[in-house]
Amino acid sequence: MSEFLVHSITAMGTVVTIQVVGHGADAQQQQERAKAVDRAIDWFQQIHDSCTRFDPKSELSQLTAQVGKPTLVSPLLYQAVRFALAVAEESGGAFDPTVGHRMELRGFNREFRSGLVVRTANPPDRTASYRDVHVDPHRQEITLLRPLVLDLGAVAKGLAIDMAVRELEAFANFAVDAGGDLYLGGHNTEGKPWAVGIRHPRDEEQLLATLHVSDGAVCTSGDYERRSPIETAEHHIMDARSGASATALASVTVLAPSAMVADALATAAFVLGPKQGIVLLQQHGVEGLLVTPALERFMTPGMRLE
Ligand code: ADP
Ligand code: MG
Repeated sequence: MSEFLVHSITAMGTVVTIQVVGHGADAQQQQERAKAVDRAIDWFQQIHDSCTRFDPKSELSQLTAQVGKPTLVSPLLYQAVRFALAVAEESGGAFDPTVGHRMELRGFNREFRSGLVVRTANPPDRTASYRDVHVDPHRQEITLLRPLVLDLGAVAKGLAIDMAVRELEAFANFAVDAGGDLYLGGHNTEGKPWAVGIRHPRDEEQLLATLHVSDGAVCTSGDYERRSPIETAEHHIMDARSGASATALASVTVLAPSAMVADALATAAFVLGPKQGIVLLQQHGVEGLLVTPALERFMTPGMRLE
């Protein structure tokens, strides 16, 4: 029987579990494995600390306080913002990482687990959008052209998963699970591709389907995750063009080589709805399953379900 190592912590408002499958490792190898898992887990804390809009000391909040001034940012924050802006452009602004203030106004002003409450210092410009965020790839600088609040909630978890994966790649067979957003490396303890259940969006006891994955990320965005404390019909994925909750879909699951890509595109496709959502996934060469509130399914041609 194979040995395996499991490590769980709470980070980024969710439980992160890392599992490494090993075959009879000696004491030194076991120690190396444990250290790599610690480093992998550490990325969740680091990315949370730099990318959260809920902590005034985070790098993201510091950037938000600098309007009109080019600001040198860390490679992690740069990468997260740059990718979010690219998805915003491709989705015609349906996805938009400048939704932070509007999320706050709708009651999403409190960090899920820690209870930290945000108070935005500069009153943001209500008409600001992703077009008001300028990135300079040569200097790795970001400039906010108007007062706005960046929200990286749709990309940061995926980025953290990708960084964790880098630490674990040498072990070939492993799983990183951040509250249902996953990366599956190699094979499971039985030597088979990992099996991932896709939740039924209207019945948490039920699975809609099972995916078999090896060396890939699977991320899901669903309307059942978080409700607004102010208006309970509203959930945590907003159509940035209208400011209302996106209603065309109930859940989107994306399978991609990178978790940041899967995470962001699941959210973006959720907002775009079934037709345009599928087009966006195909543009990126990734697979997805989109489920409407009436439980109608839409899939990219390469998606294989059981
Ligand atoms: P989860 O956090 O449950 O995994 P998602 O990955 O779908 O869910 O991300 C939802 C988060 O994305 C929200 O909590 C918010 O921070 C952010 N968000 C909501 N609407 C948008 C949007 N239109 N564009 C970009 N980010 C959004
Ligand atoms: Mg997402």
